[in-house]
Amino acid sequence: METANRNKSETIRKKIQQWSEENPRPMPWRSIKNPYLIWLSEIILQQTRVMQGWDYYLKFSESYPTVKDLADAHIDDVLKNWEGLGYYQRARNMHAAAQQIVSTFEGRFPDDYDSIRSLKGVGDYTASAIASFAYGLPHAVVDGNVIRILTRLFGISGIITSAPVRRSIDALADEVLDKDRPGKHNQAIMDFGAMQCTPAPRCESCPLTADCSAFKDNLVGQIPLKKKPRPKRERFFYYIVFHQEEDLYIKKRSQKDVWEGLYEFYLIEQPEVRDWHQVVEHLPIPCDLEYETAHYKQTLSHQIIHARFALAAITGDRLLKEGYSAVNKKKMRNFAFPKIVDCYLRDKGVNLN
Ligand code: SF4
Repeated sequence: METANRNKSETIRKKIQQWSEENPRPMPWRSIKNPYLIWLSEIILQQTRVMQGWDYYLKFSESYPTVKDLADAHIDDVLKNWEGLGYYQRARNMHAAAQQIVSTFEGRFPDDYDSIRSLKGVGDYTASAIASFAYGLPHAVVDGNVIRILTRLFGISGIITSAPVRRSIDALADEVLDKDRPGKHNQAIMDFGAMQCTPAPRCESCPLTADCSAFKDNLVGQIPLKKKPRPKRERFFYYIVFHQEEDLYIKKRSQKDVWEGLYEFYLIEQPEVRDWHQVVEHLPIPCDLEYETAHYKQTLSHQIIHARFALAAITGDRLLKEGYSAVNKKKMRNFAFPKIVDCYLRDKGVNLN
């Protein structure tokens, strides 16, 4: 790294640390050294805003105070506690990683970067966060906040997902890192990205304007440069709510797909919007149908799910098989549902809390 960049990195490091001391950001996981709790907070905060993640962090740390408690828990309970947070793969990975820690690391959270990185669901960012926060190891975190700050400060105008650009960002993150206090530095730069150098940055009050290439060249609005996102796939779910007296039939979703491990009603997926009569031509058992008018929509990272529901009162003696269970409405709260099903049940007055 050239001397000019090194000097600039040093100035940035000092100014961000000073900014951090003047702008404390209290959070329940702040300053903790327990690697398990740090890991919990980092996984929960992926794709989740701090205010939303806060309650989940408290719930998980109370329900599963140690990694062994989490490893011993039933996956259904873990998913139930995760309900409403979305991106359920995080919860499934977390549960699998807890079991990995018990089986491979004798229940002790690993304390070197490569072992932490080997845990299921743990990528470079999370491994660096745990290594630096819990063990003071000199690994720089590089998340969306850090990428935004560094590309603006150093005027990196290429597409951030291209491999050479990403390599330059990683090198700069390492150069800027305070190797003596990596945890404190990582926290400071992430806070700076969350509060100061935000997507719509507060340049007017920023202590780094004199060091910021994007600010000087009037390119703040264009950096960081992202690839155009691919259009989301639209899916059309038609749910048939088979019921008998106070029981509703539900089934655990087993496909390696959205919502794996969550519960739902009898589902007929269609490639496009259809009329109900086209959808319900071949139901597995006789029933009286009543179509709901509401349309539910849930937007996920790569998909948009549209759902409609029909109530189906079972008329004969035949019961719904193929893995379905009849569950009393009052016991629905024991199961984790996708948000779209959860919303439907709440609209129908089913108590899920
Ligand atoms: S001057 Fe603006 S763009 Fe540059 S680091 Fe500060 S807040 Fe970010």
